Amino acid sequence: MHTNTLDRPELFIGGAWTAPELADGFDVIEAATEKVLGGAAMASTADIDAAVAAAGRALGSWRALSPARRADHLDRFAAALNARAKQTAALASRENGMPITLSIGVNGYAPGLMVKYYADLVRRAEESDIRPSAFGGRTVVRREPVGVVAAITPWNYPQSLAAMKIAPALAAGCTVVLKPSPETSLDAYVFADAAIEAGLPAGVLNVVPGSREAGAYLVRHPGVHKVAFTGSTPAGRAIGEVCGRLLRPVTLELGGKSASLVTVDADLELFAANLLEVSLVNNGQTCHAGTRILAPRALYSQVVELVTETVRALVIGDPLDRATQIGPLVSAAQRDRVLGYIEAGRAAGYRVTTGGGAPADQTLGWYVEPTVFAGVDNSARIAREEIFGPVLTITEYGDEDEAVAIANDSEYGLGGTVWTTDEERGLALADRIHSGTVGVNHYALDLAAPFGGVKASGLGRELGPEGIAPYYSAKSIYFRTR
Ligand code: NAD
Repeated sequence: MHTNTLDRPELFIGGAWTAPELADGFDVIEAATEKVLGGAAMASTADIDAAVAAAGRALGSWRALSPARRADHLDRFAAALNARAKQTAALASRENGMPITLSIGVNGYAPGLMVKYYADLVRRAEESDIRPSAFGGRTVVRREPVGVVAAITPWNYPQSLAAMKIAPALAAGCTVVLKPSPETSLDAYVFADAAIEAGLPAGVLNVVPGSREAGAYLVRHPGVHKVAFTGSTPAGRAIGEVCGRLLRPVTLELGGKSASLVTVDADLELFAANLLEVSLVNNGQTCHAGTRILAPRALYSQVVELVTETVRALVIGDPLDRATQIGPLVSAAQRDRVLGYIEAGRAAGYRVTTGGGAPADQTLGWYVEPTVFAGVDNSARIAREEIFGPVLTITEYGDEDEAVAIANDSEYGLGGTVWTTDEERGLALADRIHSGTVGVNHYALDLAAPFGGVKASGLGRELGPEGIAPYYSAKSIYFRTR
């Protein structure tokens, strides 16, 4: 394995740095330079066994703490994460190519905010309530932590997506084994560093980077009580099948192919100003990105021109440069996959209005030009499959019923936006879109509101009060009247 200051050759198990069973780790490659950034350990099945056992041992005393005591621990954990925010953001950008101006929020400060949010939530909430029974007597209803949680995360928003699981799980009194993606193993260790600094009890949080086989082993491990997964729909289906057989609770945050519905009364300048954030955020490597732009016939040519000009003007470059709007993709494999979709769009006869390949002036790094296809039928492969890169399609519609039908004609249902100057109309249209989240004239996740998908975009919700519910199991204790 490579040796430099970013190397992380150990696993974090039971509160201690632990040598992995196998010596061969994983080299994390910097997306913009194609050079080795650092080496990370790779957990074997024996290492996963040790991490699950540590989480199991820690469970009893962690769940026995009062919510207020757990919240105090989490406040210190949040402060330790915040203290590292800038370095974490830069590290994650180097790993996956995310522009630093985005990374500072979603990788830097969001994890601390989420941990603080759930600490405050459990500090305020009752762990049990007493209800008069409908049949006389009374019932004590308790919320018990579900147990040891397997948290499995992808590489695109590595810090936020891990924190969306770790924060509510720990707040509820569960313990966690985090298995991050190999591509973003290095930033995952920040959770371990922060846990040590905050004095989290040993074994409450364990970090074990590893392969998908290690992930699959963790999912079916007999010591695991709940699985929280974010990743691709095929992996989510496989995990869901295993959890179904085991009757193991599971939340699945999966892929998307969301629509950006431009109505006839849309403020087109506002739409253009938000296009990067809504449709191309994180170089298009975003599950909720609104990559299918639906334009009304009356404005169609105008929308094509506006989108084309806006996308053409985006600054492609080094993700660590604050001027950069589009960075490289995470890996050569991801770049080739995205270029393959662009070829498929061309081969199907669709017109590229800007972009269409790798930028000529970027000799290193897995860059793809932001690309727009116009006149795309919603049945086209490029309009149906999740590309996970900076590729947009524009589709023309007649009336609003047709627009809603096209927006809903997708295997997925995760995000989406409606662009209109009439907020009532925006709400009415958002109600008709079959999706877990919809933005009106912008799109931004809200810490205090549930996020998740319908259809092939997943099961369950993260964030908000809804996001802690899967980490509890309800128990009713019945008392008869004397
Ligand atoms: P992926 O599914 O290949 O891998 C995600 C994680 O799961 C990795 O840690 C991987 O090692 C592990 N894994 C893969 N197969 C597994 C299995 N069978 N059992 C257990 N673990 C397994 O996804 P990716 O390529 O890393 O990420 C991109 C995908 O994630 C996209 O489809 C994207 O839409 C989705 N995503 C969804 C959300 C959401 O909230 N809905 C957010 C971000 C990304």
